[in-house]
Amino acid sequence: MSTALDPQRTITELKELRALTGDANGAQRVAFTPTWAMARAWLLSKLDEIPAEVHNDAAGNMWATLRGVSEKALLIGGHFDSVPNGGWLDGCLNVLAGVEILRRISAQYDGRPPVTVRLVDWADEEGARFGKSLFGSSACSGNLDMDEARALVDRDGVRLPDALREHGIDFERVKDSGRELANAAAYLELHIEQGPVLLDLDLPLGAVLGTFGVERHAITFHGQAAHSGSTPMNRRKDAFLAAGKMGAEIYRIAERSGSGVCTIGSCTTKPGIVTSVVEECRITLDQRHLDPAALARMHAEAREASEQFAREGNVSVAWERLWHIAPRPFHEEIIALCDDAVRETCGVSHRLPSGPLHDAAEVARAGIPTVMMFVQSLHGISHNKIEDTKEDHLALAVTAFDKLADKALAWIAAR
Ligand SMILES: [Zn+2]
Repeated sequence: MSTALDPQRTITELKELRALTGDANGAQRVAFTPTWAMARAWLLSKLDEIPAEVHNDAAGNMWATLRGVSEKALLIGGHFDSVPNGGWLDGCLNVLAGVEILRRISAQYDGRPPVTVRLVDWADEEGARFGKSLFGSSACSGNLDMDEARALVDRDGVRLPDALREHGIDFERVKDSGRELANAAAYLELHIEQGPVLLDLDLPLGAVLGTFGVERHAITFHGQAAHSGSTPMNRRKDAFLAAGKMGAEIYRIAERSGSGVCTIGSCTTKPGIVTSVVEECRITLDQRHLDPAALARMHAEAREASEQFAREGNVSVAWERLWHIAPRPFHEEIIALCDDAVRETCGVSHRLPSGPLHDAAEVARAGIPTVMMFVQSLHGISHNKIEDTKEDHLALAVTAFDKLADKALAWIAAR
């Protein structure tokens, strides 16, 4: 076996996987389905050529371990599962780049690198079937809500524990997978960006700073229904007027926050007829930022604005939290290694936060030094069959990610 990395082989294997597990509508590797199991059997055949031990943990995550001189382990992660009609790169690029890096490291060190190297294929990152993302990684990090997960049911009425049993997984034991992290010293994940930032900057690769925290609320303004003909404008208690002002305000809040984003995703009115002033208006607000203090400030500013608009319009306002997750900043030193690897590969790097959540967020939450590398997405689109990345960018991504793996191995060995 040659000791050189072969990024072109990764691209060939991605196409092979696409042909095996996709159709005219895109990738069909939904977790815990026969197509997903077939994809994993194919992955196993690829790993067969490498002197790595392969096993599935208690949560169904697949691990390939190349034992090193030191038990301290470098982890490389990804997910083979896809959404229905998904793209050809989301998740599996990470895994197959990891396979290529295992091949390179194994050949270079004759099967025994200075530090243990492990590739993990997380089970059910997407949550496409049961509506709950990051299943395998959150079980492993210990953060899976067992009561919530036990009650999950798919569209056909199949319970998650029953679907897991079909794949040899005992739901009540899934958190035993946490022991896999015992010697983990660093975690790396390559992913397509799934957004337009690198595309707009005309850059192939970037170092990811962490995943956004999210504040998600429903905001209900309450006024008084009144006849749209007989009620003078100055006598109205118009709940929609107050809610409508929020539409412009969130753009100012997001701008002041630097890199945060705010979305009003829904708006419903009562009584909702053409001849009545709006009595009740409910909007939802989703706010995201990488910095916890900035996220808290964005939330506070939105609250203050809503109270001001309510006073101005002589209506009341009530807030209800729908969901919250804290930001997961990645590890400063490993981010710097990632930056270096990108710069050495293509001359220039860029640091950016991740809007979507990833398995890396769960690993970081478990206290393991973590970083992600993003490669540019064409169209800035993912979870769609048109998801794509230029092949020369894919090759650069595998090369840069391999450099990062080397730097991380040295970083672990020196600690
Ligand atoms: Zn993904």
